[in-house]
Amino acid sequence: MKNYKNPDENGYYGEFGGAFIPEMLYPNVEELQENYLTIIESEDFQNEYQDLLKNYVGRATPLYFAKNLSEKYQTKIYLKREDLNHTGAHKINNALGQVLLAKRLGKTRIIAETGAGQHGVATATACALLGLECIVYMGEVDIARQAPNVGRMKMLGAEVIPATSGSKTLKDAVNEALRDWINHSATTHYVIGSVVGPHPFPDLVARFQSVISKEIKEQLYEQIGIQNPDYVIACLGGGSNAAGTFYHFVNEKNVKIIAAEAGGLGVKSGKSAATTFLGTLGVLHGSKSLVMQTKDGQVIEPHSISAGLDYPGIGPFHAHLFQENRAAFFSINDDEALQSAFELTKLEGIIPALESAHALAILGKKKFKETDVVVICLSGRGDKDMEMYLRKIKS
Ligand SMILES: *Cc1c(COP(=O)(O)O)cnc(C)c1O
Repeated sequence: MKNYKNPDENGYYGEFGGAFIPEMLYPNVEELQENYLTIIESEDFQNEYQDLLKNYVGRATPLYFAKNLSEKYQTKIYLKREDLNHTGAHKINNALGQVLLAKRLGKTRIIAETGAGQHGVATATACALLGLECIVYMGEVDIARQAPNVGRMKMLGAEVIPATSGSKTLKDAVNEALRDWINHSATTHYVIGSVVGPHPFPDLVARFQSVISKEIKEQLYEQIGIQNPDYVIACLGGGSNAAGTFYHFVNEKNVKIIAAEAGGLGVKSGKSAATTFLGTLGVLHGSKSLVMQTKDGQVIEPHSISAGLDYPGIGPFHAHLFQENRAAFFSINDDEALQSAFELTKLEGIIPALESAHALAILGKKKFKETDVVVICLSGRGDKDMEMYLRKIKS
């Protein structure tokens, strides 16, 4: 079996990845490329990181056998409970890891960009804990839409700077963050929130999230005496919770892999974020991958009911899995995700994030065997989506 797990030394997964950045960013990115593996694999780093994952984040998160859901779908469904992490999702695994790395690189200042605010909150949390200055760039439009998360970031001590150019959303915030990084390269680390960006970010983030599949293996063994399930399933925005869920299984040929993308109002509606269906080869945010773009390379504005999946690309790790047919990609529409969120809540008493509900909706799309062991990553909790859920209850 091919090695799907890690990129080559230039950051390529097959033809995807690399580092496509302006020359002024070379010093920052090269410093990271040269040092990230040595630092994060050192005993000293691992001791501090593992201790925080356990005692601060609350890991290991449970692997929960969902009996009622299993009965309904006539198969064996296990939920990996990333929703039970501190701050409510998997994003803290990466944010903490990168802030610890930044400290060891001698950085004193952290920048991040955020769309819905979830990654901004996770980064601000890690900075509060570890005592670093934190600046979060966020589109002006998103700041208005995501007031509770903006409040959280400020309470955690972060400065939230509005991006006021272009569509005033995520991609404009990315541009502002890159500009900042160029201007403050000696003191600053840019915490990227998913398996996207120039090499080494996709690999760095995947390694921090890989704790998800490491625990799944251990917990399956403990509970039912096997390490590998028949299926692993996760939702795909940029792809960090999916990369973490797939990581220790991609090179195990008997484990089937399914990714759930956001179909929005339907892949052909023009209002979607289904990158593998609609994307073509392009460069987005510093790496070569599949990108939703027009023929002349203008990024198409994505749409999803879930802010975390509302991204016009996917990480190069996933583009490679797609091209090689190593994973199956499904697109899940807004209404299907909503329905799955209500179903899980009623059957299991767990209110999932709308993003995670896309992964759950695979159960309605594909028939599994009664003997199949199916692990679904529940990437986050639904508190942040209550407004959307209440709207559905009322309608
Ligand atoms: C941000 C987010 C996602 C999407 O990001 P990935 O990098 O694709 O994992 C999924 N689920 C939740 C709960 C999120 O907050």
